[in-house]
Amino acid sequence: MSQDTPGSTATATAATAQSDQQGDAISNLLHENRTFAPSPEFVADAVVTAADYAEADADRPAFWARQARELLTWSKDFTETLDWSNPPFAKWFVGGEVNAAYNALDRHVENGLGDRVAIYFEGEPGDTRTYTYAQLTDEVKQAANAFESLGVEKGDRVAVYLPMIPEAVITLLACARIGAVHSVVFGGFSAEALRSRIDDAEAKLVVTADGTYRRGKPSALKTAVDEALAHEGEHTVQNVVVVKRNGQNVDWHEGRDHWWDDTVGQASAQHTAVGHDSEHPLFILYTSGTTGKPKGILHTTGGYLTQGAYTHKAVFDLHPETDVYWCTADVGWVTGHSYVAYAPLINGATQVMYEGTPDSPHQGRWWEIIEKYKVSILYTAPTAIRTFMKWGREIPDKYDLSSLRVLGSVGESINPEAWMWYRDVIGANKTPIVDTWWQTETGAQMIAPLPGVTATKPGSAQTPLPGIAVDVVDEMGESVPNGHGGFLVIREPWPAMLRGIWGDPERFKDTYWSRFEDMYFAGDGAKKDEDGDIWLLGRVDDVMNVSGHRLSTTEIESALVSHPAVAEAAVVGAADETTGQAVVAFVILRGDAVDSGDAIVQELRNHVGKEIGPIAKPKTILVVPELPKTRSGKIMRRLLKDVAEGRDPGDATTLADNTVMQQIAASLRK
Ligand code: ATP
Ligand code: MG
Repeated sequence: MSQDTPGSTATATAATAQSDQQGDAISNLLHENRTFAPSPEFVADAVVTAADYAEADADRPAFWARQARELLTWSKDFTETLDWSNPPFAKWFVGGEVNAAYNALDRHVENGLGDRVAIYFEGEPGDTRTYTYAQLTDEVKQAANAFESLGVEKGDRVAVYLPMIPEAVITLLACARIGAVHSVVFGGFSAEALRSRIDDAEAKLVVTADGTYRRGKPSALKTAVDEALAHEGEHTVQNVVVVKRNGQNVDWHEGRDHWWDDTVGQASAQHTAVGHDSEHPLFILYTSGTTGKPKGILHTTGGYLTQGAYTHKAVFDLHPETDVYWCTADVGWVTGHSYVAYAPLINGATQVMYEGTPDSPHQGRWWEIIEKYKVSILYTAPTAIRTFMKWGREIPDKYDLSSLRVLGSVGESINPEAWMWYRDVIGANKTPIVDTWWQTETGAQMIAPLPGVTATKPGSAQTPLPGIAVDVVDEMGESVPNGHGGFLVIREPWPAMLRGIWGDPERFKDTYWSRFEDMYFAGDGAKKDEDGDIWLLGRVDDVMNVSGHRLSTTEIESALVSHPAVAEAAVVGAADETTGQAVVAFVILRGDAVDSGDAIVQELRNHVGKEIGPIAKPKTILVVPELPKTRSGKIMRRLLKDVAEGRDPGDATTLADNTVMQQIAASLRK
C-alpha cells in the first residue's frame, strides 16, 4: 500500500465503534481520508465540468432534455420531457421517435466517420478482427434483414446466447434496429436457465454460436440451446441462428437452425432504419441473482440511450477521436449492454472487445491487450482487481500501461486497498479512478465521481451524477445527516430507469416502490461520510446485527483486505446465542502470504479491531481457497451464511464455479 502518495493525507484510520442508534441505521465505522484531486492538465481537457451539476440542480428535466437532443439524433422530436402522472411508471421524451442502431452506426458514417474503428476484437486463441463504423453498420443492416426474413417483427422477442464476440453486439443492434426486443442470456448459464428465460419472454428467435473458447479449450453453446428447445410445441421459438465460432460439431435441426453466414452473411446490406417510439421496449435482462431468483428487467429506448451516452461521456471523460475504451464486462450483464453494445457506439468511440478469461494463455493477457491497442479507458469489476492483486504486481509491471488515463470500477464496492492498488499499479499512481454505482434496474450509472471535477476517494462512489436524485434515508424515509448510514434510495425518476418487470407490473411496484413512499429502493445500504460522499455498504439484507450494532459487510471486508496477507474477504452474520449475530469472515490469502493457522487468524481479528473497533472483530475467520461468486463476479454471501450457520447451501444455480462450495467445505474439514 502506498502511504507516501502525493496528495494523500493519511491511511484509513481506526475509529472506535460508536453505536449509531438512529433507528435502523447502519453503524458508520470505517474512516478514509485520502483524496486525489485531478491534475490541472486533466481538468483543462475534461469534457464535462461542474457546470453540469448546477444546470441539473436548477432544472432536472431540462438538463436531460438537452442531453437527449445533443447526444441522440431523433427522427421525431419529443413534445414532453417526462410524464410522471402514473408513478412508478415513467415515460421519458414523450412523443419522440429514435432508432438506437441508427444512432450507434449510420449517423456516424453519414458524418464522415465511417473509417473510424468501432471494435477491435481479440479472440481468446489470439485471432483478431477489426470493424470500422462503416463495416459494423453494413453487418447490422444484414442481420436486420436476415432476422426480418426469418419472420421477426417489431415487438417480437429474440433470445441471445452468445459469447463475447462481435456478433453479440451486431445481434443486439440489429434487434434494436427493427424494434425487436432482445433478451440476452449469459453464455455460461445452463440449458435450464436458458429455457426459463426463453419461456418467460416467449422468444421467437434464438441467436447462438456453436461454442466459444474458455481457458484455451473449446466450450459448447449450441448443445444447451438444443436441450432448452428439446420439446417442440412447448416453446415459442421458430428459428435458431448459429454463429460458427469454434468449429465444433453440432446437432442440426433442419428448418429450424440456420448458420449465421448463410443467413446474415447472404442478406442485403441495404436497410433503412425507422424511428421507434421513445418508450418502445429495447430489451429484457435478468439481474445477476446475487440475492435470489433473477428478475426480468425491462428497459425502453429514448431515456435508456440518453443516460447511457451522457454517463459514458462524462464519467469516462470520453474523447472519442483519440480514446481507446475497453469495458471487460460480458454482454450477458447490464454493463455489457449499456457500456459495450450501446453507449460507446452512440458516442462514436473506439473500443476493444475480448472473448476470453484474464489468464489465457497467461496471467498477463489483459495487460498485453492494453499495451497492444493502447487502451486509454479501462472499465472492470473489483473481483478482477482483487484477483490481479492475488497474482501479484510483477505481472502487470511487465507491460507498458502508460496509455491508460481513466480507470473505472463497477459491480461491488471496491475496497479502499484494492482501489489504491488499481491506481498505483495499473494507473501509475496518476489515473483517476471512477467507482460507479448502478444496477440492472437503473440502466446506467447513477453515482460516480466526474474525473475532471471530483477529488476521488478510495472506496467511495461519492456523488450522484448530474440529474440523478440519490439519497440515504433512515427507516422512516428521512434523509440522514452526514456521518450516518441508512438505505440508498432514488427520489426522482431518471431517464434510464427500468420500466417494469417483464409481464409483472405488480411485482415491479412491490419490489422497488413499497418500502418507502414515492422513492425507489433496491436493497443497498449506504452511508454519507463527513464530506457528504456516498459509500455503499452492501445489501441491507446482509447487514449484521451484533449486540444491537448494525454492521456493514463491506466495511469489515475492506478492513480485512487492507491487511497485506489478504486478497479477498467475504463477511456474513451467523446466528449467535449471546450477541444475536456473530461476524464470520471467509478470507483468501494473497499469493505470497503463508497460512500460519491460528496466528494469522488472531492477527486478522486484531487488525479489524484496530481498523474499525472491537465490536467488528470477527468471531470466526476461515481461510478458504475460493469464494462463491455469481457469473458476473459478485460474492454470494447467502451461500456463505448457510455454511456459517451449518446448513446445506441453498440455490446455487447462478454460481460461476459450482465446485467452490465443495472446496470450501473440504478446506473447513481440514
Ligand atoms: P439480484 O438483484 O438478482 O440479487 P444483483 O443485484 O447482483 O442481482 P445487478 O443488477 O447486476 O444484480 O447488480 C446491482 C448491484 O450490484 C447493486 O445493487 C449493488 O449491490 C452492487 N453494485 C454495483 N455497483 C456497485 C458499486 N460501484 N459499489 C457497490 N456496490 C455496487
Ligand atoms: Mg439487485
